[in-house]
Amino acid sequence: MTIRHPLQHAVVDNRLSELTLLYQFSNTMLSTIRLNKLTHLILTALTMPASGLFERSLIFLRNEKSEILQGMLGVTRQTSEELEIIGEQDSLGSRWDISDEVVNRQRSNEFCSRVRRSRIAINEDCQLIRQVISERRMGHMHECSCLECPVGCSIRKLCKGTFAAVPLVAINKTIGIIVVDNPESGSEITQEQLHFLQLFANQAGMAIENSMLYNQIEETNDNLRDARERLLHGERLAAIGEMAANLAHELKNPLITIGGFAGRLLKALPEETREYSYADTIVSEVSRLEKMLTEILSFSRKPTICFSRCDLLEILQDCISSCTTTLEDSNITLSAQLKEGTWPLSGDPHQLKQVFLNLMLNACDAMPDGGRLSIILDHAPLDKKSAVVSIQDTGGGIPKETLPRIFSPFFTTKHHGTGLGLAIANRITINHYGSIEAENSENGALFKVTLPLAVYNE
Ligand code: ADP
Repeated sequence: MTIRHPLQHAVVDNRLSELTLLYQFSNTMLSTIRLNKLTHLILTALTMPASGLFERSLIFLRNEKSEILQGMLGVTRQTSEELEIIGEQDSLGSRWDISDEVVNRQRSNEFCSRVRRSRIAINEDCQLIRQVISERRMGHMHECSCLECPVGCSIRKLCKGTFAAVPLVAINKTIGIIVVDNPESGSEITQEQLHFLQLFANQAGMAIENSMLYNQIEETNDNLRDARERLLHGERLAAIGEMAANLAHELKNPLITIGGFAGRLLKALPEETREYSYADTIVSEVSRLEKMLTEILSFSRKPTICFSRCDLLEILQDCISSCTTTLEDSNITLSAQLKEGTWPLSGDPHQLKQVFLNLMLNACDAMPDGGRLSIILDHAPLDKKSAVVSIQDTGGGIPKETLPRIFSPFFTTKHHGTGLGLAIANRITINHYGSIEAENSENGALFKVTLPLAVYNE
């Protein structure tokens, strides 16, 4: 039997407690898939008084697209309460847990806010970044040596005295870093602590990667579910649309006949009679129904665009003259600021006219007691190759809760509305590679139609 020297005993004991601690850490990290909770558990484990490791710890995660390290969390010893042990204290199956209350307290701490505001560019000129991110080696340095670095990254501004930065590595890539320091006591970080930190970070990297992958799977799953819903909804809408189109088609002919006979009756009857007013009602109701059927048919028909060379200014001037009587009847003053020049478009002028007429007539509907209609034609502020037509009224605007629904087919707040005007206008604009936006501005609604201008070589 070999007898161990007391020093050997101490070394073995130390290794054993280190392994137990690591085992407990790995149990803890496997206990949650929520990235937020995971980062709190990791940093709290490194700073809690019982572990006696570090006074502060910070975590940065790498954004591969923008190549920056984004500060996620900073925990100080004051905010790292003892973690709660779940299971038997000395059993290998035990793990730590953290309450939502502690999580919130850590988040609202000033140091944590500073860390979260920090974004560090992954710049190879910075020795620390190069070593930790590219070479995936732990960086152990003093802020003084960081002061000599010309890059001056945020780590230098956040750390005090000696600090260590360790990469979080998962599947051969650096997904972030953990930084630790001891600003209160100023004590040096020992070799054992660095060794432990490295082992710990290896486990933490894998746990974080798992959590991120899980979140990605969840997000993809949600997107798939949404796409499926949209597809089903689209199929349902298509079936309803087809039925509506068939019905509209069937109804149109008898309606035209009824309207025609009622018109003849109207001409034959003396104006003051009751029969005359009945016939008059039939004529106006039939024309309303006809308009509705035309809208339903134009919405359900597969859009065919005859692209031709046209001019946006001419289209707008046409629409304005079509609206003149409606504007006069409703006591609406018109302010048209149409920038002179050529506004070449490649599109279907009839369909485009429908877009602007719909918007102008909607504006008139919103101002039954008069108001002001402003129409502006100009270039898009940041894109001279696009034109923007703004149509603004003073009709009180669109209620906030209905604003997101106004482009949906059949959404209407009008007694005699079909709810198809904006849906059709939107579809036509999209087919012309443009867009429509609606917002409330001053005391009315503002619709902005953006269309790409065509380039014709004379
Ligand atoms: P409809 O005119 O048949 O109701 P639209 O699709 O053209 O169908 O409009 C949908 C709804 O959007 C309208 O019922 C109305 O509530 C709202 N809306 C559209 N334009 C305006 C506007 N200029 N001011 C206030 N509300 C508007």
